[in-house]
Amino acid sequence: MAIRAILGTMTAIISFIGVGIGFFFTYIPWIENDDGTYSSINEANNICQNDLVALFASQECSDIESLWLAGNGCCGLSLIVLILSLLVIIIPSGRKETTIVSNKPDVSQKWIANCPQCGAQNVGSIEQMQGQIICGGCGVLHSPVSLEKYP
Ligand SMILES: [Zn+2]
Repeated sequence: MAIRAILGTMTAIISFIGVGIGFFFTYIPWIENDDGTYSSINEANNICQNDLVALFASQECSDIESLWLAGNGCCGLSLIVLILSLLVIIIPSGRKETTIVSNKPDVSQKWIANCPQCGAQNVGSIEQMQGQIICGGCGVLHSPVSLEKYP
């Protein structure tokens, strides 16, 4: 379980970084144009798609397009991995915490009560201990006060 959670968290972090890199790579302006302005791959790709090839040669446009696809692929794939890894982290731990709670007392559980008269340990079920018991050591009838779980 712990290993799965660690691996899931690591995958989530790495894919999150992947989403960030893909996003910045594609949408943040870092390509220097001839006039000194910067444009993002997404903008450059849009320009190429709209056939305004005045700024970019056709060779550049095909490069831009593959970069755009790579950036979006990185972003998209990382996003999918991120979601999957988050699911891996959340789902098994959620199931694991669903424990069956029984309100019925465990009848097989035995309890130890020390006799107030002779100190002998008397073992019995919880029902016996709720009433009065006869000490097996000295035979005194008494109500057990303190109970210990019998292993
Ligand atoms: Zn006794």
